Amino acid sequence: MLRQLLELYGKRHNSRLIMALDVTTNMYEAVAIENLLNSVSKDLLGVKIGVPTILSYGLHTISKWIDSVNDVLWIVDLKLADIGYVARQSIEQVYEAGFDAVIMHGFIGFEDGLVDAVEYASDLGISPILVAAMSHRGGMEYLNRVSADMVMRSLEIGLEGYVLPATYPILIKMYRGIVGDRVIIAPGVGAQGARPRVAVEHGADAEIVGRRIYMADDPISEVKRLHGVLTWR
Ligand code: C5P
Repeated sequence: MLRQLLELYGKRHNSRLIMALDVTTNMYEAVAIENLLNSVSKDLLGVKIGVPTILSYGLHTISKWIDSVNDVLWIVDLKLADIGYVARQSIEQVYEAGFDAVIMHGFIGFEDGLVDAVEYASDLGISPILVAAMSHRGGMEYLNRVSADMVMRSLEIGLEGYVLPATYPILIKMYRGIVGDRVIIAPGVGAQGARPRVAVEHGADAEIVGRRIYMADDPISEVKRLHGVLTWR
């Protein structure tokens, strides 16, 4: 499902760009975000909504954005890390809001944790994506050290995608060989230092860009510039 949606929107908009929104009402009014989304959606493959945005605008408002911009992949970055029962409650909420995919952690363990979340999401029809490694420097302190083991084991369950850091493109190349045609999306472009398209050249399907867009003086022009580099072809 995730692979199909990614190809549908990626090809339609000739784009491998996922815009990350970790914004709050202190930065942008809701209507400004809606306008931004409407102005740039034709240049995007997807939009990734982070926890600050959910806390600030609320799922109800975000659900309206999803309704009004319905030809991009909508990913919610909950970075879920909880027991299965609680993870399921959160997944149900974001599914009802209209998201296509949900991001979750695996370090909580598989039994009664990740496996429950993945199965529940798959049954509902919202694609589960695993944070396989982190893009900030601290990623190397813990998570990225165990990610190979986690990713190997994750092949036995219904995960449809992985988040892998554009800041460590070598990891993307390595994991592409393991995960086959499951989706890889890569954050870390711009504010965290990775150059656009490097992750794609190493095997990622799409790159995630947040601050470089929403903190730019002119976010619409910044999307256009990035889209010029992050074409589907
Ligand atoms: O602003 P910037 O482009 O650095 O945003 C990167 C986005 O990707 C943020 O939403 C962050 O939460 C997310 N992310 C990340 N590293 C991961 C997983 C997600 O930076 N491993």
